[in-house]
Amino acid sequence: MSDCLFCKIVDGTILAKKVYEDQHVIAFHDINPKAKVHVLVIPKKHLETLMDVQEEDLPLMGKITSVIQTVAKDLQIADSGFRVINNCKEDGGQEVFHLHYHLLGGEKLSF
Ligand code: AMP
Ligand code: ZN
Repeated sequence: MSDCLFCKIVDGTILAKKVYEDQHVIAFHDINPKAKVHVLVIPKKHLETLMDVQEEDLPLMGKITSVIQTVAKDLQIADSGFRVINNCKEDGGQEVFHLHYHLLGGEKLSF
């Protein structure tokens, strides 16, 4: 989607500090980190919310889980632990309408 912030990060129009990229998924540092480690893991495919995931996207969702594990290991929070959050739609506080998972860690989370 041309007016989507995260699609622009996917296509390189907007720069982000990427920590992982493959054919289907990218991960990059959140611009406004809420913890010592705060990375966003997103599918390259534009899916607006978790509720837009279709049956055909389920392998992609599995891939995202695998990427979360890889990034957690790479950023050395796999053993200490972390939190994964998806904000869905208005009541969930979603601001960017391109599916993403927040990966938070690197410290004991106080919220
Ligand atoms: P959400 O409220 O779940 O939609 O979260 C959107 C997240 O995207 C927020 O944590 C923002 O700080 C983050 N964000 C917004 N713009 C950028 C950007 N250009 N690069 C990295 N993260 C961003
Ligand atoms: Zn998008």
